[in-house]
Amino acid sequence: MKKGSKLYSITHMTCPQCQEGKFLESSIYDLKHVGDVRQECDVCHLKYEREPGFYYGAMYVSYALGVALFVTVWASCNLWFPSFSAWTQIGLVTFFTIVLAPYLFALSKIIWANFFIHFKADAKSS
Ligand SMILES: [Zn+2]
Repeated sequence: MKKGSKLYSITHMTCPQCQEGKFLESSIYDLKHVGDVRQECDVCHLKYEREPGFYYGAMYVSYALGVALFVTVWASCNLWFPSFSAWTQIGLVTFFTIVLAPYLFALSKIIWANFFIHFKADAKSS
């Protein structure tokens, strides 16, 4: 994947501006610090929290990701395992939602940040 695209920043969880510095405080499944965003980028010193409560908007993204996960699991069950009961499908959706919750939380924040912060090729030097 080419550096400079928003997808690069999202998949690598890197700074939306320089795409080199880390975005999160720790690893995604470090349960003590789930979704904690760093204060600023180590490389270009961009402040990640643009205003107080900036990441509240990530809830909309998180909701969309949750719906996408539900539809994916539900459609997969109906496509490949049509004999699964509704309760089995609900169990699977619940399982995947819980297991992927820390990842979706972090993913929603990096996607939200990428809506508003754009890549700058010369961000490192400034
Ligand atoms: Zn940066």
